Amino acid sequence: MSTPLEISGNTSVCGVIGDPVEHTVSPAMHNAAFSALGLDFVYLPFRVAKKDLSDAVQGMRALNIRGLNITIPHKVKVMPLLDEIEAQARAIGAVNVIVNDGGRLKGYNTDAEGFLRTLKEQGVAVRGKTAVILGAGGAARAVSWALAEAGAALIILNRTPGKAVELAGDIARAAGHPAEALQLNAKNLVTALERGHILVNTTSVGMSPETGETLVKRDMIKPRHIVVDIVYNPVKTRLLQEAEKAGAGTVNGLHMLVWQGALAFEKWTGRQAPVEIMHKEALRAFGGK
Ligand code: NAP
Repeated sequence: MSTPLEISGNTSVCGVIGDPVEHTVSPAMHNAAFSALGLDFVYLPFRVAKKDLSDAVQGMRALNIRGLNITIPHKVKVMPLLDEIEAQARAIGAVNVIVNDGGRLKGYNTDAEGFLRTLKEQGVAVRGKTAVILGAGGAARAVSWALAEAGAALIILNRTPGKAVELAGDIARAAGHPAEALQLNAKNLVTALERGHILVNTTSVGMSPETGETLVKRDMIKPRHIVVDIVYNPVKTRLLQEAEKAGAGTVNGLHMLVWQGALAFEKWTGRQAPVEIMHKEALRAFGGK
């Protein structure tokens, strides 16, 4: 538990809406950041069922909530409820941050930029590389868009191949960048990794409690690969453990979580986010694992 905040009638309220939200580390991360900068802000988790999303967004206006993070399952359905959507979020087709300016709600997507900041911070070059993306869900949309914008060629593999085809088509239209789509199976994965430099897992495979699971066998991974897992619970997934043993470079999902949060923080407060403090607090909220 962090130190209790001094809450007054002037305190600005931010939070996250999703279902479930019980395990979110965002309150720990943001409240530590507000406190470090001496800002009169507080961040709270709100469990909002699908059927209540519209009321929750209307409530954000009524209660003058300054900012919200949007998480599973609301990132797409929230879009028509907003007054304005930033071009990048519209191109990606998902919103994970809302800013409330006097009752006018604007939606953003900081997952994409958060992913790119992570790669930059970790020294991973993207331009001219081939990225192999596992998954075609909401997070895959942001990651694919970011990688395409940054100049990578994409190979998207998904268990449901139609969704990979749809995402590849959307990327080609939005980023003006061709992307390949394949069914996720061992044969296609081996072929893709022979050509790929960066492997990104955007599926939920390996996430707690199924921590023993991975879609990629160790012998498919080579030392020249950089393996990024955006799953952050646990911080070191089975995939990252296997990648390490194979001699590849690895990047865990906590970095992206922290960066998407830091970019949201900056939109709500207008201040530069204390990224190191946020990272430390997020890690601590996971019990330092
Ligand atoms: P989503 O929209 O529900 O998409 C889930 C994806 O995982 C789909 O492509 C799905 O394939 C695939 N999948 C699920 N189970 C699978 C299995 N057993 N075998 C193969 N593929 C499987 O979820 P999301 O919002 O994209 O989130 C995905 C993960 O990313 C979650 O673990 C989430 O916590 C994480 N995430 C991390 C960050 C961060 O900041 N680090 C940000 C966003 C999300 P089908 O299409 O075939 O169902």
